[in-house]
Amino acid sequence: MQFSELDLHQALLDAVAAAGYDTPSPIQAQAIPAVLAGHDVMAAAQTGTGKTAGFTLPILHNLSKGQRAKPNHIRCLILTPTRELAAQVSASVSTYGKNLPLSSTEVFGGVGINPQMMRLRRGIDVLVATPGRLLDLFQQKAVKFSQLEVLVLDEADRMLDMGFIHDIKKIIAQLPKKRQNLLFSATFSEEIRQLAKGLVHQPVEISV
Ligand code: AMP
Repeated sequence: MQFSELDLHQALLDAVAAAGYDTPSPIQAQAIPAVLAGHDVMAAAQTGTGKTAGFTLPILHNLSKGQRAKPNHIRCLILTPTRELAAQVSASVSTYGKNLPLSSTEVFGGVGINPQMMRLRRGIDVLVATPGRLLDLFQQKAVKFSQLEVLVLDEADRMLDMGFIHDIKKIIAQLPKKRQNLLFSATFSEEIRQLAKGLVHQPVEISV
């Protein structure tokens, strides 16, 4: 299979070619059509499988069709367990989205909140965040969820291991009911299955 068979925006195909990727990885070949079609997805995938492009490329494609984020609003939220992963995923979003008029940024704890509040002010199409700092920003009304279309939980098992389950539930409770949900986890324990039950609807299940 070739990337060109995946019905992605030409701007995304150009970015993929510029990154030097030849063919979609197995998770990309399965996840990209499912996400493009608007399905919820539950995927068992380790780092190194290309999962980040697997969700980022189709999300950017779908977001490129709609209205841009309004001030303080976000359209896609990607939750990650650590600041390192947030920075890495955010860098991938910038790389793949560089030819599209979409904005993205990352927010995490341990650094000043004010610059993050300033960046959110103009509205951000794709926000990559760790759960605790996102809740702080929400409580301070720096981020609003009424325009949210897509939620991604990346490395969900690590987020649960790190004790983020309550923060994640608080965040999900604030999101619009009608949205697309993508859950990525290296392992599927009973706890993850419980979380998934209340989160994804008729998901496309992927395992690589
Ligand atoms: P990830 O599993 O998302 O952390 O990606 C692992 C690495 O694989 C990253 O360095 C990507 O740049 C790279 N990568 C992602 N997709 C592809 C692909 N289709 N072909 C070659 N490399 C890729």
